Amino acid sequence: MTKRCLGCGICCETMIIPDYGYNPETIKLRDNYIKTVEYDDKTYYIMRSKCKYLIGTKCKRYDRRPQECKTFPKGCEGLWAVINPACGMIQDD
Ligand code: SF4
Ligand code: SF4
Repeated sequence: MTKRCLGCGICCETMIIPDYGYNPETIKLRDNYIKTVEYDDKTYYIMRSKCKYLIGTKCKRYDRRPQECKTFPKGCEGLWAVINPACGMIQDD
């Protein structure tokens, strides 16, 4: 299957926080907490954090978006596949 961004905008409103020994109960109380995932023997907290350039599901500065946005999820495909398995960019070729 060809990788193809579906334009859902979920990656633009998601923050991934590696667990550096935080109190999980404190994290879970935060308004923007979504879920906790385990990947490669590590824990990650998934939080909602909407990019200021995201309007609806569209990037307001798409032509000038940062390099990491252009190549996303390169470098974190495995983790992102656990977080958002519906992302069209992590499907197998
Ligand atoms: S890269 Fe994935 S999560 Fe981000 S907008 Fe495209 S389909 Fe959605
Ligand atoms: S700059 Fe654009 S592509 Fe990058 S996170 Fe923000 S809305 Fe998404």
